[in-house]
Amino acid sequence: MVNLINKHVGLEVEFDESLLKELEQIAIKHYPNEIGGYLLGKYESKNKKAVVYKQVLALSYINSPTIFKHIVDDETKVLLEKTFEEEGIHYIGEWHTHPNSNSGYSQTDFKALKKVANDKKTNIENPILLIIGFNKKGIKDYSFYVIENNKIFKYEKE
Ligand SMILES: [Zn+2]
Repeated sequence: MVNLINKHVGLEVEFDESLLKELEQIAIKHYPNEIGGYLLGKYESKNKKAVVYKQVLALSYINSPTIFKHIVDDETKVLLEKTFEEEGIHYIGEWHTHPNSNSGYSQTDFKALKKVANDKKTNIENPILLIIGFNKKGIKDYSFYVIENNKIFKYEKE
């Protein structure tokens, strides 16, 4: 498992290396367009640590080499709710790729994440955003971000 922390906000994220391998394959398959989906998992340590259990590829989305926007349609809602019930894991954030680019977030990315944090329906205060910077050969870099009080923070290696 890989553990990243943001000391400023005191939040952690944990994930298995295999998650990155899986996302790398998906990223390359959809090259040169962006692609993305949902991160599901659990909160531990009094909600201070988010553990990523799996990703779910978005079923419905709009994308281009510089755009990724997932659409939460009825089919997506059913799939996510089924996973929540069967596996006891929850929505903890999202991920998307940046083809031929790095894992820095755009203002659009920031705004979208803020919207999730402020959405009472999702009931999640500190959603995670994973951005994968990659090219045809594979992942160049990746970053996990988290929102707290409408500010975005990056998770770092301890
Ligand atoms: Zn982006």
